[in-house]
Amino acid sequence: AAEASALRKSYKGNVSGSDVPLPIGSFEDLISRFSFDKRLLNNLVENGFTEPTPIQNECIPVALNNRDILACGPTGSGKTLAFLIPLVQQIIDDKHTSGLKGLIISPTKELASQIFIECFKLSHKIFLEKKRPLQVALLSKSLGAKLKNKVISDKKYDIIISTPLRLIDVVKKEALDLSRVKHLIFDEADKLFDKTFVEQSDDILSACKEPALRKAMFSATIPSSVEEIAQSIMMDPIRVIIGHKEA
Ligand code: ADP
Ligand code: MG
Repeated sequence: AAEASALRKSYKGNVSGSDVPLPIGSFEDLISRFSFDKRLLNNLVENGFTEPTPIQNECIPVALNNRDILACGPTGSGKTLAFLIPLVQQIIDDKHTSGLKGLIISPTKELASQIFIECFKLSHKIFLEKKRPLQVALLSKSLGAKLKNKVISDKKYDIIISTPLRLIDVVKKEALDLSRVKHLIFDEADKLFDKTFVEQSDDILSACKEPALRKAMFSATIPSSVEEIAQSIMMDPIRVIIGHKEA
């Protein structure tokens, strides 16, 4: 615990909430603490991710304890892997049920495709039950059309990354079932919960009907309006702030 607080101090981390887990000191720590998947660790190392960044030190154990997260860290602090690493592990752990379990919402197509590329690096060569590969998709216009025309089953994917409008379009046409989603992540939450998107984000939340839905918000800034929304939609969240909290 002394080590953990020294580590936290070294990156000016401020973590609050009930039963906050200790941060990890390295990705290897995940093996002993969470029976982390060796193939996933291997994918990290092969892509040059050898040491976690501060937001990853803090957020990965929180997510693996299945807790709601409100995380804030400056641009470039490694927020994408902070939510993707535990998500991929949780999909591996939950191999007995098929269908969409992880949903990541991003305000722009460009950002969504960057998240997809990072996620692909992590899930590469990982097979679940019956040698089925872990399937991640970027909800593009063409994938949306294929889902609507039932050319592709929506049961095929474990993780989907989308912008709000594209997602709502397919959900409203009953081409994508969100009722079994267990992990819902809002990246750049400050944008997703401002006036432009707040209605769509609410629609997405109501389409995710799983009672044990875990929610996470990641952002470079947390304006008080987002803080309020977070407190109202989350269950006993843990707040992780790295660096300065910009308002
Ligand atoms: P943010 O979303 O906080 O702005 P990103 O998730 O886009 O930051 O990460 C910024 C860059 O840092 C990316 O190029 C990413 O690949 C890299 N990165 C993230 N985590 C690590 C890590 N643990 N080791 C090395 N590079 C990393
Ligand atoms: Mg980011």
